[in-house]
Amino acid sequence: PRSGFCSKNSIFYSKRKPIQLRTDPNIDVVTFISSHTHSSTTAFIDASTGQRLSYQDLWRSVKFLSFSLSSIHGVRKGQVVLILSPNSLHFPIVSLAVLSIGAILTTTNPLNNALELAAQIEDSRPVLAFTTSALLPKLGGHQFPLLLLEEEPVSQDDVATLLYSSGTTGTSKGVVATHRNMIAMVQILHDRYRSDEDLNTFLCTVPMFHVYGLAGFAIGMLTMGSTVVILSQFDIGEMLRAIVEYQVTHLPVVPPVLVALQGSEKVLLLGKLHKVICGGAPLGREVVEGFREKYPDVHIMQGYGLTESTAMGASADTEEDSRRYGSAGLLVPNTEARIVDPMDGKFLSMNSPGELWIRGPFVMKEYFKNEEATRLTLDLEGWLRTGDLCYIDEDGYLFVVDRLKELIKYKAYQVAPAELEALLLKHPQIVDAAVIPFPDKEVGQYPMAYVVRRAESELSESSVIEFIRRQVAPYKKIRRVAFVPAVPKNQAGKILRKDLIKLATSISML
Ligand code: AMP
Repeated sequence: PRSGFCSKNSIFYSKRKPIQLRTDPNIDVVTFISSHTHSSTTAFIDASTGQRLSYQDLWRSVKFLSFSLSSIHGVRKGQVVLILSPNSLHFPIVSLAVLSIGAILTTTNPLNNALELAAQIEDSRPVLAFTTSALLPKLGGHQFPLLLLEEEPVSQDDVATLLYSSGTTGTSKGVVATHRNMIAMVQILHDRYRSDEDLNTFLCTVPMFHVYGLAGFAIGMLTMGSTVVILSQFDIGEMLRAIVEYQVTHLPVVPPVLVALQGSEKVLLLGKLHKVICGGAPLGREVVEGFREKYPDVHIMQGYGLTESTAMGASADTEEDSRRYGSAGLLVPNTEARIVDPMDGKFLSMNSPGELWIRGPFVMKEYFKNEEATRLTLDLEGWLRTGDLCYIDEDGYLFVVDRLKELIKYKAYQVAPAELEALLLKHPQIVDAAVIPFPDKEVGQYPMAYVVRRAESELSESSVIEFIRRQVAPYKKIRRVAFVPAVPKNQAGKILRKDLIKLATSISML
């Protein structure tokens, strides 16, 4: 098997030992996982109530729910089921039950407002929704017809999830992941954590509606027999309490959590914690160094992935990996990468930054009902264009340098500029607009708008901010506005975002 950079075809092959992927076509991810869990321990703990769910009860609940989904509610294979919920013990049960009958799981951020939800519902057309009483009003007015049909066998090619991501351009699209993608993801995670000697306890602070929480911690840890403590909503105090109370060993986070931990005056009690897994957005070197100084016994393991790659891509697994400052680790097993010059499309060699393309068994099938977006993102040979500017060093370590795509990540949540631009253009006094990421130490990035006002308009920064705030979930708010005579565009009419980003940061330095 090949490993490392091959100059003949300019492909970086994963340096990790390949794993034997399941190739039998007629298996679904839930059967795969449940046949690998031989644990009598606790599968999940609700951090706020202390309620526990054993593996035995987990599988019993999943079985019971999938039975009632198909025989009572008539949900059948290929139909979409929506879950709108904060993290809870129900989340993994519902997810696994939906997948087990071959229905397609779609999730959404509970912070989304009714309008934002309506757009996703219109696109994915769920036949049934799971939600909490607090979130129920957000689903008001939608009809979810129920049909009755028998169970069907589910195979690796069948669609498993429809998670929403804006990808490299435009607004949110459904990412179609198959059971094959999910099984490969579970196998790769199993391979990664298997070497940790003791049974691990993970604290899931990351949201399960996002691929990081869903793939990783609602589903991905179960073959290891580890325990996942669930935090319903991120809160630093709650997180610290749960770490000690449940003797958490592994803590998956997004970068802003590390910024907060490292910036805190006191050295906090972290009990048995020895690994922090960090992904979803770039992690600054100062943050890593500051954290290490304060907590020398805790290793930070970066991971890199996308919704489009079922959260897989690269990972730092060992203590040695974690010492490579700034690196997102080695390509995960069974993965190939290419680094492509964004100017001329040439394949680059080691240590030269370019767009990262990845290919592996976890790469999505397509974007839902969107051939054009699929064609622009996935090529015919199966390469996924990540839209990230990266390089791979001589030892095979991946470094994410910058983001080429428009996507803004506010606390690792996705914000699509195209969505905010469309809203801005609806304002009667706005003729043109462009939205870009503005760098921020605490949250990573926030949306900033360049706005062209109608002649003689006296539209103010605060009224633009307020106009958007009323229409979007809080994490998408525009937090800075600059008025310009025109939005710079190339000949094809594409917004020159990099110029605007440069302009914004240079002005703010003054
Ligand atoms: P999502 O689909 O929401 O998971 O977003 C995927 C994007 O998040 C990637 O394409 C990157 O731009 C960014 N990202 C994820 N992990 C990392 C990381 N370790 N370092 C830098 N950026 C990351």
